[in-house]
Amino acid sequence: MLVLVINSGSSSIKYQVREVTTSEENVAPYTSSMPAINERITLEQATLGAEGDEVLTKGLIENIGEGGEIADHSQALDVMAERLDRELNGREIDAVGHRVVHGGERFSAPVIVNNEIIRAIERLAPLAPLHNPAAALGLRAIQKKWPEMPQVVVFDTAFHRSLPEKAWRYAIPDAFYRLHGIRRYGFHGTSHDYVTGKAAEFLGVDREDFDAVIAHLGNGASVTAIRGGASIDTSMGYTPLAGLVMGTRSGDIDPSVLTGILTRNKDVDAERLDEILNKESGLTAVGGTNDMRELEQRAESGDSGAQLAMDMAAYRLAKYIGGYHVAVGGMQCLVFTAGIGENSAAFRKLVVDELSALGITLDPEANEVRSAETRVISGEDSAITVLVVPTDEERAIAEATAGLVEARIDHG
Ligand code: ADP
Repeated sequence: MLVLVINSGSSSIKYQVREVTTSEENVAPYTSSMPAINERITLEQATLGAEGDEVLTKGLIENIGEGGEIADHSQALDVMAERLDRELNGREIDAVGHRVVHGGERFSAPVIVNNEIIRAIERLAPLAPLHNPAAALGLRAIQKKWPEMPQVVVFDTAFHRSLPEKAWRYAIPDAFYRLHGIRRYGFHGTSHDYVTGKAAEFLGVDREDFDAVIAHLGNGASVTAIRGGASIDTSMGYTPLAGLVMGTRSGDIDPSVLTGILTRNKDVDAERLDEILNKESGLTAVGGTNDMRELEQRAESGDSGAQLAMDMAAYRLAKYIGGYHVAVGGMQCLVFTAGIGENSAAFRKLVVDELSALGITLDPEANEVRSAETRVISGEDSAITVLVVPTDEERAIAEATAGLVEARIDHG
């Protein structure tokens, strides 16, 4: 099955076409009450029997919208369809899988799209004002262009629907939660879910028995506590600003700093403060760049700001890992993934050096290996196994899409 995976932003569309093979006996269950059933199944169940390894083509369409070269999402799809015609040598797309940032409290698994689902995604716009409306535009544009095309949405928040209330509640008056949905949601769920499955499989542990801590370290970064294969806590919160020190985001900060900045700086309003915390903070604020490769080079040549930025990010992450080790009742495994987690041996070393109290050690040679494969990097004497597991969100989305669509075709 050819699956087109789409990440639809407000002014851009990222796409990838994956060839997914499905085996019949393993497809996800389907009944006529599709959405209700689907909302209870996990990504893993949705992807059972699906292998979405091969990338046939991928691309990016930018400058969509007012003042851009491309008027709207419909026109962007025309551009994409033309490219796909050329690049796929006449082969046709069978289904479309969309990455959607926010599934609110409703969605805990991928679902097949219908009009009601699109409206639900739009209704969640107050929680993700930049992302959800853009995703809905992408969904509607596909409906218009290819009315019969099956579409599936995969939510960034869904994997964290298993958080217990003590982990997702904020200790502020209840009205903010009831009226505005202010609580911890967590993000990067597709990646945390996928990597958890891969790590358990690699170690030969049943997922239900797998307790781990997963560090997804890209430009945005989050760490998740996995107990029995499910997410029980995660560092991002109401928004992806919380938790770790990231490329351009501050991560956790004393809330009074924000009110302090607002009251002391007349030229900084809430919108500007949001921009400072999301785009001008983190590694960039301390080390002068959000690029880990550059930070490594600068630190090596004696730049103390770059070294401090790396030290702060590693220290914050190590504190989370220690906390989550307690939360999961003792992790069997620590996993590094995403751009920095997969590629920066120097950063992984800084983190593990902070974790000596847990008896975790690195195998220095294994840590230096560059590879696209899952691998062990802990030392033989390490109390806890440390893995590098390459993430692949597009693959997870393609497999979930194929799994659900195939199930519908088989049983529907
Ligand atoms: P995004 O969140 O945008 O998907 P990525 O997962 O691609 O981010 O991660 C981007 C980060 O990974 C950047 O900080 C980049 O510097 C870092 N990175 C990528 N390749 C390397 C490398 N070879 N060595 C160190 N850091 C790397």
